[in-house]
Amino acid sequence: MPNALTWLFLAALGAATVTRLWLAARQIRHVSAHRNAVPASFSDSIPLAAHQKAADYTAAKTRLGMIDLVVGVVVLLAFTLGGLIQALSNEWSKVFAVGTIAHGTALLLSIVFVQALIGLPLVLYRTFGIEARFGFNRMTLKLFIADLVRQALVGLILGVPLLLAVLWLMGKMGTYWWAYVWLVWVGYSAALVMIYPALIMPLFNKFTPLTEGELAGRVARLLERCGFKSSGLFLMDGSKRSSHGNAFFTGFGAAKRIVLFDTLVSRLQPPEVEAVLAHELGHYRLHHITKQMLLSALISLAVLAVLGQLIERQWFYSGLGVGTPSHAAALALFMMVLPEFLFFVQPLTSRYSRRREYEADAYAVSHANAAELERALVKLYKDNAATLTPDPLHSAFYDSHPPAALRIARLAQMRSPS
Ligand SMILES: [Zn+2]
Repeated sequence: MPNALTWLFLAALGAATVTRLWLAARQIRHVSAHRNAVPASFSDSIPLAAHQKAADYTAAKTRLGMIDLVVGVVVLLAFTLGGLIQALSNEWSKVFAVGTIAHGTALLLSIVFVQALIGLPLVLYRTFGIEARFGFNRMTLKLFIADLVRQALVGLILGVPLLLAVLWLMGKMGTYWWAYVWLVWVGYSAALVMIYPALIMPLFNKFTPLTEGELAGRVARLLERCGFKSSGLFLMDGSKRSSHGNAFFTGFGAAKRIVLFDTLVSRLQPPEVEAVLAHELGHYRLHHITKQMLLSALISLAVLAVLGQLIERQWFYSGLGVGTPSHAAALALFMMVLPEFLFFVQPLTSRYSRRREYEADAYAVSHANAAELERALVKLYKDNAATLTPDPLHSAFYDSHPPAALRIARLAQMRSPS
């Protein structure tokens, strides 16, 4: 039964979709227009062939993103106004009574399953089509399937207990169920961060402690300079899946681990790895990670409070294509529809994130060598075929990291203040 919410939802979805497609088209046009000339500041360090590969890779990924987007819109409309959530709810009501935890769990799991199934061809094409064509994919079909099975099992083992707890609280706690769910969610997320490095990540990758050699020595001295305690430096076999390189921290408190992809270590010189790590340490020392976690906790509280208001209203369900209200249907509807209403917040979060990248760069410069960081970044742009010439609007909207040219210019400035 269409109501005002139906039209509001369609308007938000329409505006977000048109904007996303427009930005993607701009990105492809901009990158292609600059395909034949390496920007002046990179002309010494990046050959034309590498620049052209980056342009083609970016265009291919963006084009796939557009298909992904259109499929996503069709799926979203099918689930909501098309009545698919209602149809699944009806099917499960033949097995479990509507409103029970069993019915809710079955409904939500079947929605996740259908979504994953529809998304699978695109994931396959991304990995074995695009990533393989540009020489990044190292994954075999066998590993892909093994990953899929492992991810599904881990998802079920970690997700089902949470789902049961949430549905139980929704049924038992009355008007303020959302406050209880929030507490469980925050505790659950914190626990997940703690068990992830030691229990989950080793299911997918091998971690080898790095204790000897020039790099280990440099990292140890860097950590000391920065006053950072960790429970170890590990090399991860990222090359098993992809040739893209990375470095990151995991864990909390004294259980913090530093993880370097083997692909990063094989491409960069030890002083360059040190500079990249100094940037990552910057995120940590400047409390970016803690702030991020606090912010997501606050946002999830606000989101749950809004859902707490909507869940009792008949118009919320009927306006979005669900005839039989239930807690599980409300959760599903809300999770699916909310991103469309929040789409235009994206440039703000991207901007915030870019500012933190500059801050981490400044930290790296004061604790390691700026020229090494510059060299490392240029190598990474080149090896990962990251475009040096993104469309400025596309970048402002989505990019969590500053565009290459601006970031390198800022580093050069910090290196020789004048
Ligand atoms: Zn960063």
